[in-house]
Amino acid sequence: MEDCIFCKIVDGRLPAKKVYEDELIIAIEDISPVAPVHLLLIPKRHFVNSLDMQVSDRELVGHIFLVAAEIARSKGIAENGFRIVNNNNAGAGQSVFHIHFHLLAGRTFTWPPG
Ligand code: 5GP
Ligand code: ZN
Repeated sequence: MEDCIFCKIVDGRLPAKKVYEDELIIAIEDISPVAPVHLLLIPKRHFVNSLDMQVSDRELVGHIFLVAAEIARSKGIAENGFRIVNNNNAGAGQSVFHIHFHLLAGRTFTWPPG
């Protein structure tokens, strides 16, 4: 998508600190971290959010979770705990309308989330 920040990061039109990439997704450091570890896992294909996905995208979603777990293991944050967050629409806090999954770790998290 022409004016989408994350499409621009995916295709290199905007810079980002990339920590992982494969044929389906990238993982980057969040520009405004809210935890010591704050990564964003982003499909290369543009989806607005989960409401934009179909049954045929189920493997992609599973892939994202497996990569998140692998990144957590490789960063040594798996044991202490980490959080995967996906905000859907503005009322839930979504501000970038290209689906992404926050991977957060390195501090204590409260429940329910704010
Ligand atoms: P949302 O609020 O949509 O769930 O999350 C969007 C996230 O994207 C926010 O945590 C915000 O800090 C991050 N973000 C927004 N613009 C950029 C950018 O240009 N680069 C990076 N790396 N992160 C961004
Ligand atoms: Zn996009």
